[in-house]
Amino acid sequence: LSTADLIEEHRICVCVRKRPLNKKELAIKDLDVITIPSKDVVMVHEPKQKVDLTRFLENQTFRFDYAFDDTSNNEMVYRFTAGPLVETIFEGGMATCFAYGQTGSGKTHTMGGDFSGKNQDCSKGIYALAARDVFLMLKKPKYRKFDLQVYATFFEIYSGKVFDLLNGKMKLKVLEDGKQQVNVVGLREKEVKLINMLTSGKTSANAHSSRSHAVFQIILRRNEKMHGKFSLVDLAGNERGADTSSADRQTRLEGAEINKSLLALKECIRALGRNQAHCPFRASKLTQVLRDSFIGENSRTCMIATISPGMTCCENTLNTLRYANRNSKF
Ligand code: ADP
Ligand code: MG
Repeated sequence: LSTADLIEEHRICVCVRKRPLNKKELAIKDLDVITIPSKDVVMVHEPKQKVDLTRFLENQTFRFDYAFDDTSNNEMVYRFTAGPLVETIFEGGMATCFAYGQTGSGKTHTMGGDFSGKNQDCSKGIYALAARDVFLMLKKPKYRKFDLQVYATFFEIYSGKVFDLLNGKMKLKVLEDGKQQVNVVGLREKEVKLINMLTSGKTSANAHSSRSHAVFQIILRRNEKMHGKFSLVDLAGNERGADTSSADRQTRLEGAEINKSLLALKECIRALGRNQAHCPFRASKLTQVLRDSFIGENSRTCMIATISPGMTCCENTLNTLRYANRNSKF
């Protein structure tokens, strides 16, 4: 089955990406506990001790649509995840791509959300690659006749509040109308040229916090009316979810909010995968603003679960794999 077939059949594609050990991990001689024996299997080899103190490796196996090892690059990951979804929005559908994982596991590296220009050596991320393909697709005779306009939005959700990253981090209200249509009031949509700017690192628009969800959207309009929408989401670090015992009240609240939104996301993706009529999108701000992604015949979603290879991250890695696993068909 091709990726397109998989997504066609299930509407959801779940992948895992392992990053290489970084300098810090190499310096402390952290152990790489992850292997990817085939292109859809991830194994965790967790060092453990028996009561008699003999050591052993506990091996756990997870299956996904795709598993990318630490030699893969953004272009490869893109080709099997967000790439096939570009067509979805040209066909009038809603596409969504999430990066999920622990802080430091490679979400922003994958999505390419570092617009500071600091990371010039790293290859283009999924934001830029998706934008590139949108512009290529626009030129196809099949779609040229639609006379589509391309817009972009970029915002972050922090502690249940929405901030416009294209407009000085202005705080925005989210309202639902009588038709259950969710609107982020006053959210700035910028035209085509801005996407080029955004994805080439020439703007200061930057989601700074690993405790916020960053949402980059490419919107296609036809005579002002929405035709299709691609939401690319760099989620808050999932380890914070567990961080509800912190002494600091703000940190605790943040943790609780992240927990809530990632749980709600799981429920909504599950509803989408089962073609369930009811989707509990109101449970968090994140799922509320992404409501369109979870409903309708023509919604497609992919999730890229990013994992760190080190033994020191083992517990977080297992949590990530379990979360992603429950979202997939396996
Ligand atoms: P996150 O957004 O999940 O917190 P980052 O994307 O910021 O994590 O990654 C943390 C660090 O690891 C960054 O310096 C990044 O460049 C590096 N990194 C992440 N993924 C990879 C990868 N696949 N290959 C090489 N370096 C990576
Ligand atoms: Mg990040």
